[in-house]
Amino acid sequence: MNPRRPVTALYPGSFDPVTLGHEDIARRTLRVADRVVVGVAHTATQAKRPAFSMADRLEMLEEVFADDDRITCVSFRGLLVNFAREIGADVVVRGLRAVSDFEYEFQMAQMNREMDPEMEFIFLTPDAHLSFLSASLVREVARLGGDVSPFVSPPVLNRLTERFREQVEGD
Ligand code: ADP
Repeated sequence: MNPRRPVTALYPGSFDPVTLGHEDIARRTLRVADRVVVGVAHTATQAKRPAFSMADRLEMLEEVFADDDRITCVSFRGLLVNFAREIGADVVVRGLRAVSDFEYEFQMAQMNREMDPEMEFIFLTPDAHLSFLSASLVREVARLGGDVSPFVSPPVLNRLTERFREQVEGD
């Protein structure tokens, strides 16, 4: 008998904060991989400052995925290809919401492939009712006092409520 080697998938992103769309993609990944590492990118190279600190983003992810020990969450800096190699990832997973995501994702996958020809990407689509969801929209609605409970898990909802209450009080 030749037992199959466990497959590790890396799901990278900023998760600022984790939404039900992200959750859906991470859990779906377990249909094709044995283990998922959610990689939270330090955003120092990005123009936008994250709304939540790395510690908060990781804590929310850990709470959200506390029910499944096949999903672990870690932060990373620098190139995705280096981090993927470091953790022994077999494949990188990204979510595709709409055609609008495709161009950026395709470009990024090709660039990463140039840097590491061994790297494989898979793209998963979320449940239809989550396909309009983005972390930035959730932040915006929460900031304006809207109800974001249909879009995030309870630990995230609490954090968002706290964060934007503080902000309103600080205004
Ligand atoms: P966002 O685009 O929400 O700010 P990230 O930058 O953290 O999220 O994205 C991480 C990955 O998750 C990307 O591949 C992104 O396309 C995917 N993703 C984000 N939201 C959803 C969703 N609602 N459905 C499917 N994939 C998603």
